[in-house]
Amino acid sequence: MLNYIADIEKEALDSIEKADSRESLEQVATRYLGRKGVLTGFLRNISSLPPGERPQAGKNANLLKVRLEKEIRQVESRLEADRDGEARGIDVTLPGRVPARGASHPVTQVLNEICGIFSRLGFDIVEGPEVETDYYNFEALNIPKYHPARDMQDTFYLSENIVLRTHTSGSQPRVMEKNDPPVRIISPGKVFRCDSDLTHTPMFHQVEGLMVDEGISFGDLKGVLTTFVHQFFDSGTSLRFRPSFFPFTEPSAEVDIQCVMCRGKGCRVCSKTGWIEILGSGMVHPAVFENVGYDTDKYTGFAFGMGMERVAMLKYGIDDIRKFFENDVRFLGQF
Ligand SMILES: [Zn+2]
Repeated sequence: MLNYIADIEKEALDSIEKADSRESLEQVATRYLGRKGVLTGFLRNISSLPPGERPQAGKNANLLKVRLEKEIRQVESRLEADRDGEARGIDVTLPGRVPARGASHPVTQVLNEICGIFSRLGFDIVEGPEVETDYYNFEALNIPKYHPARDMQDTFYLSENIVLRTHTSGSQPRVMEKNDPPVRIISPGKVFRCDSDLTHTPMFHQVEGLMVDEGISFGDLKGVLTTFVHQFFDSGTSLRFRPSFFPFTEPSAEVDIQCVMCRGKGCRVCSKTGWIEILGSGMVHPAVFENVGYDTDKYTGFAFGMGMERVAMLKYGIDDIRKFFENDVRFLGQF
């Protein structure tokens, strides 16, 4: 009986191999696997075999059925591919296809533009590590362990003393430890917080700015940021400074710009106020200078931090921050 199955196998595989059209392949399938097919009939009548032979014969016949179905599918797709190829043909006189050209991501474009503006103002560009120690991310910036100010930033802790940086501000102590004043840097890069909605993503980009020298005042801070806003948005954009709190600056100020959507008249984007917050800033706290060994009687400085997606959204009129990271070319291709 097992020989009989082996015979069917040989014969069936041979016929499948020889099939040169869909029709002949279909005939083979019907002959062996159809309702009245050879193999189907064998399986149906298996009870007529001696009881000792039934299990092995049933198993072999079922395995063969699976194998034949697989072979038929393979030959079927090969026949289909051959037919498509013939239909398509190749016309050597057609012009070649130009590969699609990519472009920089809108966040990269904004980053390059911001770096360009501050470079022309004499700022150096430095980068810090994305995996940061608790010391540089918090303590050196006057945010001690267990201080409530830590609650302002939902932090990814990798271990007790290692975090994914929550801001680019860690570049401030890192740069000041290695360099004496004058210091004039911006530090762009990725930052991480456990947060996700229309205006927050767990990873986003920030630019940190720091300027330290003798006699730096709040007036310098206003001058530099005003120049930046006028170059980045347009020269008619007004700014306002609102008192705020950051542990590493004193005094601290949030900076709002006149709403770029409604020109200050009041709209949905600016919640009818006419103003939109774009960054946090302030005069460097003396405690931060003491941590890096700067003479607080001699030196003063200012710092600011700005979300790049936020300014990109305002510049291009984008309403959902998550669009930046969905990799949809219909969106990305517009920039
Ligand atoms: Zn508005």
